[in-house]
Amino acid sequence: MVDDRESGGRGDNDRRTDRPRGRSHFQRRRICAFCVDKIDHIDYKDVNMLRRFVSDQGQIQSRRRTGTCARHQRRLTLAIKRARFLALLPYTAEHIRTYG
Ligand SMILES: [Zn+2]
Repeated sequence: MVDDRESGGRGDNDRRTDRPRGRSHFQRRRICAFCVDKIDHIDYKDVNMLRRFVSDQGQIQSRRRTGTCARHQRRLTLAIKRARFLALLPYTAEHIRTYG
């Protein structure tokens, strides 16, 4: 009682159905955190807040991962770059290592 067609064989049919639209390992649609809080100006001195948008390697997270809208992503990038300049945020992972 083994049905060969189910397990493998020539999978013409199951190839078609196996097509997830936009494979998201993250949440599909996230509303921009700044829009929710109606924050217009992103403070570069607010390091704790900025850290959430920076990876462990010190890189700015992409818009897709954080769900930030284009308008706020621009401001956020600017704020992070300013914070980096003032040594509030690291540029690279090596900076983090040197500081412990
Ligand atoms: Zn926004």
